[in-house]
Amino acid sequence: MDEDFEKLKQRLPLLDYLRQLNWSGRPSGSGSEFVGLCPLHPETRPSFYVNARKNRFYCHGCGQGGDLIRFVQLSLHLSFPQSLAYLQQQSVPADAANAREQAAAFYQRQLPRHPEALRYLEQRGVHDPALIEELRFGYAHGGNLRRHLTDQGYSLQSLQRAGLVNPQGCDAFYRRVVLPCCQDRRVVNLYGRSIGAAFPHRFLPGPKGSLFAWESVRQFSTVILVEGLLDLAVLWQAGFRNATCAFGTHLTPFQFHQLSEQPDRLVYIVFDQDENQAGQRTAHQLARRLAEVSVPARVVPLPAGQDPNSYFVAGASADDFARCVERGYPL
Ligand SMILES: [Zn+2]
Repeated sequence: MDEDFEKLKQRLPLLDYLRQLNWSGRPSGSGSEFVGLCPLHPETRPSFYVNARKNRFYCHGCGQGGDLIRFVQLSLHLSFPQSLAYLQQQSVPADAANAREQAAAFYQRQLPRHPEALRYLEQRGVHDPALIEELRFGYAHGGNLRRHLTDQGYSLQSLQRAGLVNPQGCDAFYRRVVLPCCQDRRVVNLYGRSIGAAFPHRFLPGPKGSLFAWESVRQFSTVILVEGLLDLAVLWQAGFRNATCAFGTHLTPFQFHQLSEQPDRLVYIVFDQDENQAGQRTAHQLARRLAEVSVPARVVPLPAGQDPNSYFVAGASADDFARCVERGYPL
């Protein structure tokens, strides 16, 4: 356990972790020390010091200090074992990340060759070629990735470790539209949406990564949180570039941290308006959790039975959607 922990800290240095959270520090004194605003308490003058050589932090404002795991405990309000498990999940080994990056690029090149995939996107209201390119939509026809990547020099074992090939040696994704999930601009996972009868949603093992496209969405003073990537795609296409998604209704602690990093950012939650009200219930829970950390949130009602994707596919315009957003209510 202790050794694992030391390895983990080497693999994910505290300073890198903080930078993933968009913490910025300037060099202070000796070469290995940085100072910036404390992510653990509100302040206007920097008092949070990170020593990259010692891999530790100390804040003169709130008096907190320690290593990476202590920081995760404090910032995400997790116990020691929870923080350890969380960090182990967060860090994808470099060779797996590489293979996933290559797989995403391969699937992207495959998309135009498969009319069934383009037809599927068209049916789901996604038709703008520039957007398809920008979001890096790809297609896994199945049965050709392993060969492509072994030709590139990847061993079968490394592809299995990356989850791209299953223990039987077959591609993990078959007949799925595929999108890369990134963190810090690195592909950490792939999301595969079935275009056939298979279970619709599938990820490779490991973390889902950050909120989708957070590095561009975080600049907005209001953000729209939706459940799925096809919801996000139609919203971006309609001009709502402040939409992001967590690939489902349950945010990881890291995604929650991102969503709540700036208390004056207004969050509109637009989950599926399904008959059993499950989407609305989770939206309410999330709005309350955000309120607890002083982040204003509104729950946006859509017409019965709709999600953002189906609403646009049914013919709604950007104005129709904007009117729904205006009807968003606080809890
Ligand atoms: Zn502090």
